[in-house]
Amino acid sequence: MKINVTVWNEYVHERTEEAIGQVYPHGLHTAIAEGLAMDDELEIRTATLDQPEQGLPQSVLDTTDVLFWWGHKAHDQVDDELVERIARRVRDGMGIVVLHSGHYSKVFRRLMGTGCRSKWWELDDKERIFTVLPGHPIAAGIPESFTLPVEETYCEHFDIPTPDELVFLSWFSGGGVLRSGCCYHYGNGKIFYFQPGHEAYPTYYDATIRQILRNAAHWAAPNGNPPMTYGQHDRFEN
Ligand code: ZN
Repeated sequence: MKINVTVWNEYVHERTEEAIGQVYPHGLHTAIAEGLAMDDELEIRTATLDQPEQGLPQSVLDTTDVLFWWGHKAHDQVDDELVERIARRVRDGMGIVVLHSGHYSKVFRRLMGTGCRSKWWELDDKERIFTVLPGHPIAAGIPESFTLPVEETYCEHFDIPTPDELVFLSWFSGGGVLRSGCCYHYGNGKIFYFQPGHEAYPTYYDATIRQILRNAAHWAAPNGNPPMTYGQHDRFEN
């Protein structure tokens, strides 16, 4: 069975700032989708904010196993009602992978329930990412540490709930540190937050980053179990 992935991107920077359009000429979502499509088990769609129903009508959400989310400039434009529909789908079993500045999206803040802010600076620092949970499925095939030559620094304190599983920890050459790969279980669904992916840098073309995103799609996907049942029930033992 294929995993149905929808990559959602607000798709604003790439069309309003020339330098960013040069890094991602077809949008961040396209670069993210290309990395995911290297895996035959993933069936990929993309969606953007400017599409009808902001790209995510219920019919798309209902047939999405894992939603990837990239947003920054247009967080406020995302309909509150859509945020609620996404949160409900995650609670019912859909996976969500929130990328980079998506940490401050309405949907991530809704799911986390905390402020979700961090310190940040954009000064071309190098990022070194450490795998701190090597047995985790998202760490499969990932070296114990690797570097990105430039990334935007996000630095603790990162105002998130303590992750259920912390897979990656990052150090930046300007002295910042961040819990950069965080897993959560939310109702019947799963959430992965992954920090690299600033729009001005070619992060989503990096082979190791792409492997992590493919691993995250597999980890976050529902496992095929029937839905859990709730409410009054016969006793299990007499
Ligand atoms: Zn950024």
